[in-house]
Amino acid sequence: MWKRGKRGRRHGRPAKPVGLELCDLCGVTFPADRAVRGYVPDSSAAHPTDDWFDGLRRVTACTEAHFAAVREGYRLRPFVQEELWAAKIERELTVGTPVLTINQLGCRTGLHEPEIRRAIAWHNAHLDHGGQG
Ligand SMILES: [Zn+2]
Repeated sequence: MWKRGKRGRRHGRPAKPVGLELCDLCGVTFPADRAVRGYVPDSSAAHPTDDWFDGLRRVTACTEAHFAAVREGYRLRPFVQEELWAAKIERELTVGTPVLTINQLGCRTGLHEPEIRRAIAWHNAHLDHGGQG
């Protein structure tokens, strides 16, 4: 689930950071300055712009206890390398110019061809066919 990141403010000033946050666990709204934030390992998370953060999901929680609960949930989730590769590939395929060849995909994702093939196989095996049958 993606967070809504758009805040169409056009007032000539940078948007001020004071605001509200939603807890990733319980969903309560609370002042952003009380937020407990951190990153948890999540192989389904590819950062939209910065691949340094690939495999990490940003978590925002209302309390330390809720942050710990979210982190525990991700700790129990298997970290699947192919899933992360697939997330990187999907990012490249959905932003910017279309990627045409495996070589080009390799250049953009930093993955080697066998990794790309494994990622594609993983992706295809885990497609949500929604409404199948
Ligand atoms: Zn909470």
